[in-house]
Amino acid sequence: MMTDAYAIGIDLGGTQVRAGLVDWSGKLIARESMLTDRMGGPQAVVEQIGLLVDKIIVTKPECMIAGIGVSAPGPLDAVTGHILEIATLKGWENTPIVEMLEARLGQNVAIENDGLAAALGEWRYGAGKGLTHFVYVTVSTGIGGGVVADGRLLRGRRGMACHVGHMSIDPNGPRCGCGNPGCWEAIASGTALARRAQVAMMGDPASTLHSGPQPIDAGAIFAAARHGDGTALKLVNEEARWLGIGLVNLLHRYSPEKIVLGGGLSQGLDLMRAGIEAEIAAHAMVPFRTVSVVSAGLGGDSGIIGAASLFQFSDRI
Ligand SMILES: [Zn+2]
Repeated sequence: MMTDAYAIGIDLGGTQVRAGLVDWSGKLIARESMLTDRMGGPQAVVEQIGLLVDKIIVTKPECMIAGIGVSAPGPLDAVTGHILEIATLKGWENTPIVEMLEARLGQNVAIENDGLAAALGEWRYGAGKGLTHFVYVTVSTGIGGGVVADGRLLRGRRGMACHVGHMSIDPNGPRCGCGNPGCWEAIASGTALARRAQVAMMGDPASTLHSGPQPIDAGAIFAAARHGDGTALKLVNEEARWLGIGLVNLLHRYSPEKIVLGGGLSQGLDLMRAGIEAEIAAHAMVPFRTVSVVSAGLGGDSGIIGAASLFQFSDRI
């Protein structure tokens, strides 16, 4: 029965592999994690996922597992179950990850691009619940996302839609990990913000950013801004502007009811909201200007819960 369906979600990231047991209502009832074996290649990571799943199953032997959904960085082919490449990890080209995991785990496995998995989680259980059209954007080390339009998740050919971080924003901008100049990710990700902060700090020896962690990260910039540090506030305003420029593109393209912001940088949405809204007010066409930007409802768990939900709905939409 549907209400008995527990599923496990895996969030494979460049830093951590996380696993969670999710109940039929989308609640995470057990979790395990470890640092990603970045050098070991797919076989080592498959074994890591295997260990995490074993641990969860041992603690909850009474739960019937419907399947294991994996959220992973792309591009990946969700139809054939192959990871095509992972920019942050070596040796993953054309990896038949679903086949490898099914052999290790003896369970049904499905894979989804991390932006789409998180969008699915937010749509089914988070800030996008009940909406027919919404855009999810995650801003952390990179920028990813997913779009629900007309009541369904846009997957595109091979499940590769919505690599929104690679929208071209400035052809003269910094080079992106994908090789192109001026992608949104290269300008507005947490990595790009941190890089701008390093430069800005050189021009402001009095900034409290110097007393924070080195290398500086987005969290430290938000903390300094909350304490009124002028350089940090300037960086935050600039970040809000770049995020706003990308979001205006997405508003025009998809006409969502809401934009849901996830990832580490959504922790600073309160600081950036005015700047983002100013950008939308200045550049979105009038009928698009009333769309609100809200934080992810599931925090850092959107991907795990969304991946698990691949097995909790009878239709793989
Ligand atoms: Zn790019």
